[in-house]
Amino acid sequence: MRLLMHTCCAPCSVYCIDSLRNEGIEPVLYWFNPNIHPYIEYKTRKDTLIEYSKMVDVKLIINENYGLREFCKNVIKDLENRCLDYCYKVRLEETVKYAKENDYDAFTTTLLVSPYQKHDNLKRLCEELSRKYEIEFLYRDFRIGFREGQARARELGLYMQKYCGCVFSEEASFLTHTNTKPDLPEDFEFLPVKRDIIIYKEKSDKKQYVDLLLDADPSEKMIEKYLKDGDLFVLRYKDDVACIALVTKIDNDTVELKNIVTKEEFRRKGYAKKMIKYLVDNYKQRYKKMLVGTTENNIPFYVKQGFDKYEKTIKNFFIDNYEKEIWDGDLQCMDMYYYSKDL
Ligand code: SF4
Repeated sequence: MRLLMHTCCAPCSVYCIDSLRNEGIEPVLYWFNPNIHPYIEYKTRKDTLIEYSKMVDVKLIINENYGLREFCKNVIKDLENRCLDYCYKVRLEETVKYAKENDYDAFTTTLLVSPYQKHDNLKRLCEELSRKYEIEFLYRDFRIGFREGQARARELGLYMQKYCGCVFSEEASFLTHTNTKPDLPEDFEFLPVKRDIIIYKEKSDKKQYVDLLLDADPSEKMIEKYLKDGDLFVLRYKDDVACIALVTKIDNDTVELKNIVTKEEFRRKGYAKKMIKYLVDNYKQRYKKMLVGTTENNIPFYVKQGFDKYEKTIKNFFIDNYEKEIWDGDLQCMDMYYYSKDL
């Protein structure tokens, strides 16, 4: 079967592609999402999908249309019903037309994976389009794999969006009272999530990580200063803490990565890189820049992670602020070098 799958983003495509492949169906992905705003968000989601499609070797067709004005013109009269009246329709109809014109046997959409979308309405709309254009609609209730797919996407370090797509959904994500709950059938059950790696923000006792933070910063006094107000993130591999990172706010535009450390037995597995990617995705919604202060030896690592803008050097930082001499291999640490990365 030649199947064209409208694809809203990489994380939602993970379970859909996997489950279709398990059935022996090889989907072709079709990107047409003029509902995603602002442009930086549109581009980030599209680029992530391009990256993911290469990763899993699936064909991707891009319909390039950043349709902010057209979208707003069409939904502004009835914002409450924008998903059903315009957003679903415009995306899916374009997909179906492309499928028809290019001799596909069937179409489907990754929108069917999200428990936050209006699933039954989507299904009905696809059935209508199927009749109108005389092409099969392949229905699957992908929602059972939503959690599994999202967990896998996080493991792969894919960009995870914080809102559905349009500016109105972005606004809703900040207004807690409008947060939508998934509308699922009574007996609905998600597939159990199989996750080896998870990253989360520690909400309980941050002090339990002091010993590990001391691996990267040998001053307990320094750690105390930034631990109190900083956000601490933990990467777990199965039951073990593998890597932690601490981030503090500098001003309204800037955060600083104060400390990142991977346990000895988990080094050289890419966990620090995964953690940095997670932090960047997490902070890019609200901040413009992430700073890092480092010793000379570690500059190449951070530059490789995108901290490629030199900011400043604080001379004798490690001499003036630490009681004992600090050595990094054969090199005595003296100056602190600051680099930054645009978010
Ligand atoms: S909330 Fe999502 S589905 Fe609804 S209009 Fe906005 S982008 Fe489209």
